[in-house]
Amino acid sequence: MVVFYSYGSHFKADKDLGISKCENCNYEAKKLLITEKYKIKLFYVFPLFSKVKNRGIFCTHCGNIEPLSKKEYDEMKAK
Ligand SMILES: [Zn+2]
Repeated sequence: MVVFYSYGSHFKADKDLGISKCENCNYEAKKLLITEKYKIKLFYVFPLFSKVKNRGIFCTHCGNIEPLSKKEYDEMKAK
């Protein structure tokens, strides 16, 4: 599991989808199924609040997130 932080958003890679062509940048790039959560943390350590902002397919080449509905996301994850 890959976890990284940026500007209060927290991305969780739920599944490695392998290499496929990105519709945004047209590169054959590695795709990850991700959940983006917004977190507010106390003293940068203790999470006070967490909310799912986005679900989607993340392109590791251009950083584009192709949004998915919860249903689509669950189907992709279950495959
Ligand atoms: Zn891309």
